[in-house]
Amino acid sequence: METGHKTKLALNVEAKRAWDQTFRLMSWWDSDKVAQARVMVVGAGALGNEVLKNLALLNVGNILIVDFDDIEYANLCRSVLFRESDIGKKKCDVAARRVRELNPGTRVQAINGDLLIDIGLGVFRRMDVIIGCLDNRLARMYINRYSFKTGKTWVDGAIENLAGQLDVFKAGKSCYECQLSDEEWKIIHYRLGCPDIAQRNTSGGKIPTTPISASIIAAMQVQEALKVIYGNEQQSMAGKHFKYDGMHNLILQYDLDYVQKEECVSHETIENLIEAPELSADNTVGELFDWATRRFGDERPILHLDYEVVLELTTEKSNITYPVLFAKPHFSDAEQQRYRKEPGENILYSKVVEHGLHKDNFPHLTASLRQIGVPPLQILKIEAGGSYHSVELTGDESFLEFQ
Ligand SMILES: [Zn+2]
Repeated sequence: METGHKTKLALNVEAKRAWDQTFRLMSWWDSDKVAQARVMVVGAGALGNEVLKNLALLNVGNILIVDFDDIEYANLCRSVLFRESDIGKKKCDVAARRVRELNPGTRVQAINGDLLIDIGLGVFRRMDVIIGCLDNRLARMYINRYSFKTGKTWVDGAIENLAGQLDVFKAGKSCYECQLSDEEWKIIHYRLGCPDIAQRNTSGGKIPTTPISASIIAAMQVQEALKVIYGNEQQSMAGKHFKYDGMHNLILQYDLDYVQKEECVSHETIENLIEAPELSADNTVGELFDWATRRFGDERPILHLDYEVVLELTTEKSNITYPVLFAKPHFSDAEQQRYRKEPGENILYSKVVEHGLHKDNFPHLTASLRQIGVPPLQILKIEAGGSYHSVELTGDESFLEFQ
């Protein structure tokens, strides 16, 4: 057993060495840099498939795939990593398996989750670059916020029909949120209003795309991601906008006339980060408060969340009250259905704790942080001793496990 494992390991190391020998003929290629890189790919659809294929072929060492969708028949015509026998399986899991098949030297982790609520800022912090392969503005806005908060550059791609576009968003050079038009904001607000997280975080309609536009834009996304990994700012597309029109064979690239908007919240960064290896998302809220009291000498620390925590629900027509405990963004349509006594009746949030939780307004001190919607490796905002502190749940470090 031991010997077999060692042989496999040795083969992997050997394979890794031989894999990129052709690339090494290019004088600028840095095998180690690429092999050590950590890249997060958000979305494993048409663009995501092509991005992942390229990352694997290029021997990028550590790839994190985030997606919550299942594979459907309609995906197959644009997804090089999926087969008919994969229908019904999670996109992230199948994509991870295929990436490993393509290049056994690459380590992959799949997270079946939603970027908006399931990925801690500590995960972003540990990445070299983030690649967005999304079909909706809301998720793009959140990638932008989380990336900028942790000082990361992200590469966005979008495709429709035979066309596509690409942006590299880097703080100080460009910002997805700053450049949103009033019309786009309207769509985002509408999406935020959707009670169901799955509905919120999709395009809301089928966008016609082809494997051709996907492969062109995805290839450029990976090229740009490599520049970020290399720290090559000079050749980077950051601050520029790239457009491709396959119907008329047009390629357009121009400098963005970028002005940072004062009201844009994407530019809030994490200052004075405290890594707390003794804390994880499995700790209780009470344990977190006790930790903060010991650390900051404040008897009533406040945990600031970006969302409300719901403590009680009431059905509007049948007027039944349920004590509950969950993060408001996690309340899916399917969940709501469980509480309805009459068809289609509204479910009211009759008791919520707004963004600041403390011992006096939050009775569930034995609930875990996870139960109130805190993902592993999150960076929490704690108010104590008259100031705000950024505290990372560093105890979740093993959550990131590339295999
Ligand atoms: Zn901005």
